[in-house]
Amino acid sequence: MDMINRLKEDLIETGQMGRTLPRRIERYGQLDPQKGVTRPTGTEANRKIRDYAVECMKEVGLEVKIDKVGNIFGRKEGSKTNKGTVMCGSHLDSVINGGMFDGALGVFGAIEAIRRINHEGFQNERPLEVVVFTAEEGSAFRQTLLGSSVLTGKTKPEEALSMKNDKGVTLEEALGNIGYKGDFGRSLDDVEYMVEMHVEQGPVLHREKIPIGIVEKISGVAWLIATILGQENHAGTTPMKIRKDALVAASDIISFISKRANEMVVKLGTSTVGTVGKLNVFPNGTNIVPGKVEMGIDIRDVVPQNMESLKNETLKAMKDIEKSYGVDISTELPPMHMPASLSDEVVNTIDNSARQVGVMTRRMNSGAAHDSQNMAESIKTGMIFVPSINGISHGPLEWTNWEDIENGLKVLNQVLKNLSRIAEE
Ligand SMILES: [Zn+2]
Repeated sequence: MDMINRLKEDLIETGQMGRTLPRRIERYGQLDPQKGVTRPTGTEANRKIRDYAVECMKEVGLEVKIDKVGNIFGRKEGSKTNKGTVMCGSHLDSVINGGMFDGALGVFGAIEAIRRINHEGFQNERPLEVVVFTAEEGSAFRQTLLGSSVLTGKTKPEEALSMKNDKGVTLEEALGNIGYKGDFGRSLDDVEYMVEMHVEQGPVLHREKIPIGIVEKISGVAWLIATILGQENHAGTTPMKIRKDALVAASDIISFISKRANEMVVKLGTSTVGTVGKLNVFPNGTNIVPGKVEMGIDIRDVVPQNMESLKNETLKAMKDIEKSYGVDISTELPPMHMPASLSDEVVNTIDNSARQVGVMTRRMNSGAAHDSQNMAESIKTGMIFVPSINGISHGPLEWTNWEDIENGLKVLNQVLKNLSRIAEE
């Protein structure tokens, strides 16, 4: 079997895990827009795909270890040193009803790149290590990038383990249930580089017909959770004048964020995006003036000051909205993920590697968050993007053509070979 066919097989096989569909999906045209993959951390589907990845790692000769929060490491020692490790990987959990390439491509691509290195008889002088991060998506335990936050020391293992999912199950219990509560204490002291291959999850590469994106910056993410308290009342008998309608107040906040983010992009040339993606209306009845609204606001940019200013302007706008509608607005600010600049050295290595294997590239930023942005704070990190058809991701219609996956793999293989060589002094 030739090499890309094996990666294709791994992705098709694992693409059935957590999906309610009777058959294997091998082509774009076979996707069902209603049926994506659902593999939040701790689910049966999550266990299955982890087990499959561990099997693949062992098969290519990697030594597998699991840390306290279920991150998986598969290591191949270097021929000259056991220091200066090159890490490569991504995540295997998914959003609810997501796509089969998001995360899985980076994990099985890393394993395939090493399988190919073995096959070629290439001697990696530094160690190569595949990493699978726990709970990258916030789909089970709410905090995104959880496994990499623990690995990089931003979140304490005990704190992560005590987080609960929607069913009240802690991460510790969830990992125990699927057999991935390990005890390996992985420090990053011996790690020099991190590389992650991922689907772009945006339209740029597909639109421009460029096979590889080299990521320079990853947007930061700031969340603002707002609760608007008004007065629940009868929709028929309450005069307009005396209403305290929490949803009308919320609609002003939604308009403000969308307008202001657009303005920043047009007038200031920023890459700001602002979204209200979550709204809970209480009591949510057609004949009742809404008394309470909970709202989830997501603000992103590659420049932290732009995120700060949209956040602060939104908070200020809320003060005015409180006054005009007679409502009370309280806000929560979960910890912000800062934007990350990836390593120039790794960016240049990806660039050179792509040239070596004859694949065209473009430099770009990532609007989506990735574990690599945590890793970039501690070690030299780079990301390789492959095209997403029509920019679709986090949904059942996410797809990347097999030729593009082969291109990504070729580049990744070359990058690992180049980074694993020790430069002559
Ligand atoms: Zn992902």
